[in-house]
Order: sequence, then structure tokens, then C-alpha cells
Amino acid sequence: MGEIGVYIHIPFCVKKCLYCDFNSFSGKEEYFEEYKNSIVKEIEKFETDRELTVKTIFIGGGTPSVMPAEFICDILNAVGNKFNADKNSEISIEVNPGTADFDKFKSYREMGINRISVGAQSLEDRLLKVLGRVHNSEQFFECAEWAKKAGFSNINFDLMFALPGQTLDEWKKTLSAAVKLNPSHLSLYSLIVEEETPFFEMFESGKLKSVSDDEDRAMYYWAREFLKDFGYFQYEISNFAKKGFECRHNITYWKRKEYLGFGLGACSFFSGKRFHNNYDLLEYIAGSWFGEEEDFSKNDAFSEFMFLGLRMNDGISLKEFYDYFGVELDSVFGNKVELLIEQKLLEEKSGRICLTRKGVDLSNAVFRELLL
Ligand code: SF4
Repeated sequence: MGEIGVYIHIPFCVKKCLYCDFNSFSGKEEYFEEYKNSIVKEIEKFETDRELTVKTIFIGGGTPSVMPAEFICDILNAVGNKFNADKNSEISIEVNPGTADFDKFKSYREMGINRISVGAQSLEDRLLKVLGRVHNSEQFFECAEWAKKAGFSNINFDLMFALPGQTLDEWKKTLSAAVKLNPSHLSLYSLIVEEETPFFEMFESGKLKSVSDDEDRAMYYWAREFLKDFGYFQYEISNFAKKGFECRHNITYWKRKEYLGFGLGACSFFSGKRFHNNYDLLEYIAGSWFGEEEDFSKNDAFSEFMFLGLRMNDGISLKEFYDYFGVELDSVFGNKVELLIEQKLLEEKSGRICLTRKGVDLSNAVFRELLL
């Protein structure tokens, strides 16, 4: 017996956004059906001698909403036929404005999807253009309205801040307008300029200018305070939710629980092994699903447990560490945690170890310290 999360990867997008380094591409519409058939087969052929109950399903991308709704339904049916279902499963799909109409939302609801995550990113048309998004703010508002009208009450908006040329006032305006729509969840990400993206070149050549670190932090801390007043509590570095609407699927990752990924390049963590699928679309479609297993040592596992757990606001407890690994945290990390507490990067709160505000800002440095 076991409980798992299932991730389904749909790598297709209408157009590649200028900052995107995800496993996604545009202009491959002719492969939609074959790709869907291949995922269904991959699920059907998955072998395990364990009986598994699916607690969460997350259909992400890419842009899953570019696919016809009936393809998504076929994939969900394959998951339902393969694993035990839990009637309280959280089933999420990522939707980008401009790629789903009201009928699509209705179909999603009918097939049992109960959580929508909308890739809004910004509500300013000027910034959406800078990002190379295919939608405008009007399409976002339309999309949010259709999701609600179709009966969804668990809705997330993904928003980005610290965008080139964005002012604190613009960010305040965007977040205020988003909150007015009363989503149950908000994910707020600071822009990261990744190498090998058009954005990287544009920043290198001076065509785009980053906001300063101080402005970035001002936007983040303003949002944290602002959201408190509207009943959103922060449960992870970038995630805020109304009580009871935390994303259970993502918590699976942060608590280092098991999940299975299906689709191009999808990652799995299962039976103590971590592996990812093939990244080559044509090979994947031809049935060569598997990519490779990742090597990781016991020490990697200890460190990873800390990085992931500390992303969450309530951090980790000594007992959780012991229950997970069967060894005491101190016997693995020595006095590292104590030193980080002395440096005010970590703190102990009701028997749990969490990042402080300074620790959140310097989280990469904290995580580096915890590398074994
Ligand atoms: S929609 Fe998302 S996955 Fe697709 S290109 Fe844009 S950022 Fe990347």
C-alpha cells in the first residue's frame, strides 16, 4: 500500500515566453494526439507490485490547456484505471489565459478536476508584452471569470514580480486587482533570468534592466503583509493560500513524499529512487518513455529533506527528520543548524526549525550550508 502524487507533463505552448527555460515548446500541434496516446500507454504499462492510491494529480506544462479537453480526460481515465482513486483527491490543471474557453472549464469540472492554476504572471499589458506572453489582461480576467462560472472554487493565480521596468506601484496594483477576484491561492515568483533564454541575451546586451535587489525584496515583503489582511497565509516561500487551500500536490514535493511523473521529461521519486523520462519528443511518442535514474547518496537525501522542508513556513521538526530517516538530525548535521540559528538565518519555533526573514532572503546561502 502507498499514497502517491501523480504529475502529468504537457510540454506544448502557443509560443515560447521570452524568460522560459521549462521543458516546453511551441508549434507542435500535430503531435498532440500521438503524445496523449503515448502518455496513456506509459501509464497503462507502469509496473509496480505495490498497491497505490493517488492523493493528488497535477497536470502541468507547458500549457496543458492548449490540448483538447477530451485528451486530458483520456489521460485522467488512464490514471483512474491504473491506481486506486481517493474521492478527496486534489486534481489540478494549469491553464493559460487565451487557451481555454468556458466550455473547456466546464469539461474540466465534469472530468473531476477540482483545482485550476492560472498562469496570469502580470495584469499589466505592457509587462505581459515584455515577458512575451500570448495573452493580455482582459483575457486573464475573462479566464478567471469562466473558471468561477464553471464551478471552480479552488483557483490559483501565478504572478511574477521584479519584472524589468516594473515599479512597486505597478506591483501593488496588480496584486490588489488579483486579490479582488478572491482566488483561494496565490503563487508569487520573483523573475529569475535563466541562461539560454532570450531574456538572458536581452539583459546581457542592456536591452532590459533588472530591478534592484532592494526593489525586489520591497515587492516581496509588501505582498506578504498585504495578503495577510485578505486572509491569505503564507505556507511556503512563494505560496499563499486561504486556510485549507494549500496546494497538496506541491506539499508532496516539499515533504519529500513519493510521486510519479508521466510525460516528456517528467520526474518521479518512487521506492527510494529518483528518475526522469526521455526529453526527446519523437522518441517519447515512439514509446521510449524512460530517461535515466539519478544517482543520489544518503547525504544528498539528508540535505534535500532540509532544503525542501525549510521552504515551508512551518519548516521541519527533529521528530519528522527522525521518523523519515531513523537517525537524529544532530548526528547528521552536527552543529550546523545551531550555527545557522546563531546567525539568525534559522529559528526554533514550537519545536520546529524554520527560516527567519533574513533566512528567506539568503535561503540559497542557508541551503549551501546544509549541503553534506
Ligand atoms: S506558457 Fe509557461 S511553459 Fe509555456 S513558454 Fe510560457 S512560461 Fe514557458
